[in-house]
Amino acid sequence: MFRNTACSLLLALILGSCITPDVSPSPSHNLQPNRKAKNIILLIGDGMGLTQITAGLYSYNNQLELERFPVIGLHKSYSSDNLVTDSAAGATAFACGIKTYNGAIAVDSDSLAVQTILEEAESKGLATGLVATSTIVHATPASFIAHASKRSYYEEIAADFLDTEIDLFIGGGKKYFDRRETDDRNIYTELEAKGYIMSDYFQQKLIDLDVDYTKNFGYLTADNDPLPVRQGRDYLQPASALAMSFLDTHDAENKGFFLMVEGAQIDWGGHANDSDYIITEVLDFDKVIGDALDFAQKDRETLVIVTADHETGGFAINPGSTMEKIEPGFTSDYHTAALIPVFAYGPGAELFAGIYENTAIHNKMRLAIGFKK
Ligand code: MG
Ligand code: ZN
Repeated sequence: MFRNTACSLLLALILGSCITPDVSPSPSHNLQPNRKAKNIILLIGDGMGLTQITAGLYSYNNQLELERFPVIGLHKSYSSDNLVTDSAAGATAFACGIKTYNGAIAVDSDSLAVQTILEEAESKGLATGLVATSTIVHATPASFIAHASKRSYYEEIAADFLDTEIDLFIGGGKKYFDRRETDDRNIYTELEAKGYIMSDYFQQKLIDLDVDYTKNFGYLTADNDPLPVRQGRDYLQPASALAMSFLDTHDAENKGFFLMVEGAQIDWGGHANDSDYIITEVLDFDKVIGDALDFAQKDRETLVIVTADHETGGFAINPGSTMEKIEPGFTSDYHTAALIPVFAYGPGAELFAGIYENTAIHNKMRLAIGFKK
């Protein structure tokens, strides 16, 4: 036994010294991507920790699209004022590369606005998009396009959609655009006046729309929060597919795109300590992951990243569970501070191996797409 172990150790040492690793063990900020990405698709499963993924996997015949990723890392999700982050500080870390306080939407600890990667992509002529299964003004999408000292300033966040040239957005929250309480503005018609083709669930289903790819496009899927998928929400996969083909062809200059898609309600299942809610939302999100990988495999210039802002619920799969039926346990109805998995595919994917701060995801995306030398 000892001899076998010693032999394999020796073999590993010899092999290890012969093989040049793809990823240098030096600090990740010194890394350069092997190949530059033209497009980035960032997929955020809100509250999607390892147990959420595991529960989805075993509930779906022991298979997920997530298993197709060649590179896996872990990020440290804590915020500037709490070991347990919220989704605002968590998304701001990805969007802006800064640790900030819980509740901050793309602002620093002094509440000063910090440029987001979506804004930077816009300024460099890339096409940009946001798709979410929450309201589009909710913390995760908001942190890519708006700046607010509090995440609950939904109407202020909706007005910030006029400040960028975002090319496509799809999510709930129509009332924050067209029936506002804090002012008499109608952001929906202001966006139309700016040249956006605007539509919503109350007029036409997304899949029935004939979208003009040459115009900017906004679609609101609900007045407030969209439904859970198990209660009939059906737009995440078609909206994400539309976003990918739309952004890929929207820009005549063909400079690439940045797209963020959020599976928002995995988190809400965690808050509710409802494993069926979590699992159905993970599986809905996993379909989008598969579509993004298919797109990137064909396109060969797209970096796909899947991660979460934090874990929710202290979710556990308890003894007595089977693949057919999970016996869930929860330690909390809020978020927890566990390390969060990161999955990457495409040019620059190798940058995402290892253990790093959540803010490093911002830096790695910028390195991969060539925003940062
Ligand atoms: Mg969210
Ligand atoms: Zn949450």
